[in-house]
Amino acid sequence: MPFQDAFADILRFQEPLAPYTHLRLGGPAQYLAQPRDVDELGRLLAACSQARVPWRVLGAGCNVLVRDEGVAGMVIRLSEPAFTFVESHDRLVKAGGGATLAALISHAAQQGLAGAESLIGIPGTVGGGIRVNVGSRFGAIDQIVSRVHLLDPQGELHVLEREEVTAGPQGNFLDAGIIVAAEFVLEPDNADSILKRMRRFWIHRKAQQPLSFQRAARMFKDPKGTSAEVLIMEAGLKGTRVGGAEVSDRNANYVVVHTGASARDVLRLMEMIRSRVHETSGVLLQQALAVW
Ligand SMILES: Cc1cc2nc3c(=O)[nH]c(=O)nc-3n(C[C@H](O)[C@H](O)[C@H](O)COP(=O)(O)OP(=O)(O)OC[C@H]3O[C@@H](n4cnc5c(N)ncnc54)[C@H](O)[C@@H]3O)c2cc1C
Repeated sequence: MPFQDAFADILRFQEPLAPYTHLRLGGPAQYLAQPRDVDELGRLLAACSQARVPWRVLGAGCNVLVRDEGVAGMVIRLSEPAFTFVESHDRLVKAGGGATLAALISHAAQQGLAGAESLIGIPGTVGGGIRVNVGSRFGAIDQIVSRVHLLDPQGELHVLEREEVTAGPQGNFLDAGIIVAAEFVLEPDNADSILKRMRRFWIHRKAQQPLSFQRAARMFKDPKGTSAEVLIMEAGLKGTRVGGAEVSDRNANYVVVHTGASARDVLRLMEMIRSRVHETSGVLLQQALAVW
């Protein structure tokens, strides 16, 4: 039986991806799959591997720009409850790969567990966050993760210890699979203290990010010893606009998109920034935004 028939319950065809991404840009996925549990996801990956269908996994789409032409092959979303849970036992918090970072942070705070609050205000899911190692000056997710449950492309489940995740060749272990869940060992703390830190971090972050109603994305990784934001400002590019894509006036390392923008506008703006920053500083910025 062709895999499209075997997975008909969880597949959509030519599904527009824009609504599933933060920038709300780009074309459709040839197939969009929303599996109901780990077992079904494993079988789907095995079937894709057998039928040579390329696949990608989409989190909350905060760090993904989908091209206007769309994506060939399968896009997988971990949107079902088997992937969005957050639960805890003593100091151990376990979250599905599709759970939001916000759900993880608020669950931990309610349980009087500290550590996750350093990620407050960073949009995205646990799986996407671990994959790109999200963080800020207050801390990164790799400092609190203790185990990662990863499905490999053949659909086999592996439980990786922290050292295996962080000591891999630049995190390449994670590049090859889907994070279906992660465990975090957190420190017991007074709920009031956690809340106070959360407020402090939140206020600091909000002052440095595009406004929450804006469709925005972080463009470049920070080069060693400096920040992409500073280099872009020094190149005089704050507020620069290409079509409907504009360099944010709150943080120059964010692109903000306006009504009528296309993914092509964002790509052209990023290319222009890269070459201007290279001219003015000699630094070649590396993309943080994944382009599909
Ligand atoms: C307003 C704003 C503020 C931001 N602030 C910060 C910040 O302070 N610090 C920071 O580090 N980032 C920041 N980001 C970037 C973004 O929030 C993170 O990269 C985010 O955690 C990505 O998670 P996601 O679920 O949206 O992943 P997506 O954007 O959907 O995917 C990102 C990558 O992860 C992969 N992926 C997604 N889910 C899984 C999974 N389950 N298993 C394996 N791979 C997976 C995708 O294939 C893709 O390659 C910000 C973004 C925005 C829009």
